[in-house]
Amino acid sequence: MTKRTKVWLTCSRCGRRFSGDTKTEALNKMRRHLWKEHRDWMVKRIKVGQRKARREKELEGLNPALLKKIFGSKVVGFAERPVIEKITGKPYEEVKAQVLGFFADMLMSGILKQ
Ligand SMILES: [Zn+2]
Repeated sequence: MTKRTKVWLTCSRCGRRFSGDTKTEALNKMRRHLWKEHRDWMVKRIKVGQRKARREKELEGLNPALLKKIFGSKVVGFAERPVIEKITGKPYEEVKAQVLGFFADMLMSGILKQ
C-alpha cells in the first residue's frame, strides 16, 4: 500500500499551512482562509491584477509596424529595444508604456529632429 501524500500550501501572509488530498483542495482551503483573514489584501491584489491586465491590453499591438505608422518611415529601427534604450536612457518597458503619450511628441520634436 502506498502512503497517501498530502498537498501542503503555506499562506504567504501569515504562514499558516493548509493541506489537501489534491492541490485544488488545499488551494480551496487557503482561498477561504485568505478571504476570511486577509480580505483587504485580497481585494488589493485583485485590483492590481486588473490594472495590470488592462495595461497589457493597451500595449497590445504596439509593435514595430504600429510604431512605424506613428513615427514615420525614418525611424523604423526605433522599435528595437537596444535602440530605444540608447536613445532615451530609459528602460524599454517604460518607454513603451509612454510612447503613445506626450513622450512621443518629445522624441519627435527633440532627439529625433536633426
Ligand atoms: Zn493567512
